[in-house]
Amino acid sequence: MSVRVFNTLTRKKEEFVPVEGKKVGIYACGPTVYDYFHIGNARIFIVFDVIRRYLRWRGYDVTFVQNFTDIDDKMIKRANELGITVPELAERYIEAYFEDVEALGVEPADVHPKATEHIEEMVELIQKLEAKGMAYEVDGDVYFHTPAFDNYGELSHQPLDELESGARVDVDERKKHPLDFVLWKKQKPGEPAWESPWGKGRPGWHIECSVMSSKYLGDTLDIHAGGPDLIFPHHENEKAQSEGATGKPFAKYWLHAGYLNINQEKMSKSLGNFMTVREIRKQINPEIVRFFMLSAHYRNPINYSPDLLEQAKSGLDRLSNVVYNLRDLLEKLPEGQGDSADAKERLAALEAHRGRFVEAMDDDFNTADGLAVLFDVARETNAYLKNAQVSRQVVEQTLALFEELGSVLGFFQKQDDEDLDATVNEMIEKRQAARKEKDWATADAIRDQLQAMGIVLEDTPQGIRWRRK
Ligand SMILES: [Zn+2]
Repeated sequence: MSVRVFNTLTRKKEEFVPVEGKKVGIYACGPTVYDYFHIGNARIFIVFDVIRRYLRWRGYDVTFVQNFTDIDDKMIKRANELGITVPELAERYIEAYFEDVEALGVEPADVHPKATEHIEEMVELIQKLEAKGMAYEVDGDVYFHTPAFDNYGELSHQPLDELESGARVDVDERKKHPLDFVLWKKQKPGEPAWESPWGKGRPGWHIECSVMSSKYLGDTLDIHAGGPDLIFPHHENEKAQSEGATGKPFAKYWLHAGYLNINQEKMSKSLGNFMTVREIRKQINPEIVRFFMLSAHYRNPINYSPDLLEQAKSGLDRLSNVVYNLRDLLEKLPEGQGDSADAKERLAALEAHRGRFVEAMDDDFNTADGLAVLFDVARETNAYLKNAQVSRQVVEQTLALFEELGSVLGFFQKQDDEDLDATVNEMIEKRQAARKEKDWATADAIRDQLQAMGIVLEDTPQGIRWRRK
């Protein structure tokens, strides 16, 4: 059996065959670092983290690249509002990005390139497109000429005239075609700028991804990933630039996650339902957020609501409790206990469940079905543990299965004791600070988080102590 992925380009589920043997290059469009990222971004980060982990677990040699957009209109506007420089703003929110994704269990990418560190290569690519007649300059701005690229519109599967009428909304008189897009922007007074053959300016957004992806992964990516809102125009434009310049396919497989709604509504600042992970982390154990995101297939729309989060919490608790129980039992059970026929049956069942998990995940990374397998294992394990005599081998193998499949989804890892120590102490300090401020909601939320981690707090004359449940 092999991995099959749904490819936005062909709109079909296809067998996954990397360009070169077992090597897999994945490029995912990263955040514009002008603010904390929101819960919709979190879904993208979590989903592609799992896809990366799964392919690695399946034996592929994965290189994952995710950029930081650290120069654009939003960056300049926000830096001005805060009275700091654009690089200072970028540094602040890149640091926040790493803190927030770590809480969500998302591993750092192998490379996190920044747009501002690749300006020279962007200028080179624009020059190449200009030389090929695919780009033109108008008074210090440079545009990509979409009719010069035959396959424009191929990725978004929309007729050009439809795309065109959408683009006509903010028509720029100086463009030769309404779908033409900017590659280089002339500097406006006070804006950060770099030297270029067209005068001082800065790159457009799309060009950075064409440059940074090929620099670290080669001309043809195995997987190009991103949110659903990026298909058009961002990915369509990246594709036109890269294929226009190289004449080779830009990405073999295009993977796009589904939309995330909040209480059945689109998330937007104007609706007042805009939620950053930074805020959410104060109220909920981020592991629950991760579990919630993986409880649906990554391409399906998902609705973020208190009810569904509550469900995710009880689902995660159910699985975590089994893992805690198994770890506890393993310490108590004597070596070699309970090798009965019953044990053999359980071990065979575990192997079968492992196979079902692989089947689910091979089928376009169906984490919902993958989790369903873990629930089956949990249910059967709970029943098995009611036996008078349990087999140590079964306990060991069941725990190993949870930890192995958990490593793919990002759960149930045996935390290094020192790590746990530091995490818990930090949480206790935060809780103490919240209590001092009479911020009871935060204090309670931290206590609940600790409880979910299996940590009990005790008030002693020497201060707060903690122990494992
Ligand atoms: Zn991009």
